[in-house]
Amino acid sequence: MSRLHEISYEFVEFVPERLEPGVLYISVQYKTMAHLCCCGCGKKVVTPISPTGWQLTYDGKTVSISPSVGNWNLDCRSHYVISGNRVHWGGRWSREMIEAGFARDRQAKQDYYDTQTSRERSPSPSPAARPVSTPKARSLLTKIKEWWSREVR
Ligand SMILES: [Zn+2]
Repeated sequence: MSRLHEISYEFVEFVPERLEPGVLYISVQYKTMAHLCCCGCGKKVVTPISPTGWQLTYDGKTVSISPSVGNWNLDCRSHYVISGNRVHWGGRWSREMIEAGFARDRQAKQDYYDTQTSRERSPSPSPAARPVSTPKARSLLTKIKEWWSREVR
């Protein structure tokens, strides 16, 4: 197995069944990305695009995704950052990163509640016109907790 240091990308409608190594497949339509783990283990890694998942940056020539990809659920436990089509290898999940993740999640929740509160303050429209808030899927905090519990076990 050899670690990749570069990755290319392909914009697709559907992520194909068989992925080529070293290619990040991006489906804007389905807000998801998939690639084979950059360590060379051949495992498929799916990184959904969402405010609490991953963000994709496309500058017309290269792609970057953030935050980093931590494959704690795979045997290889690889951890890397994809930035400007390059794969930057990281070490183990550090305490600072966990704390940064928690802070980010707290901020996201805070923003969410602020929005809710300001909605309540505004004159209430007829029930039919009220925006329906959908519960967020799985929060980043939950994901980090899962990763962490697997990591320390
Ligand atoms: Zn791997």
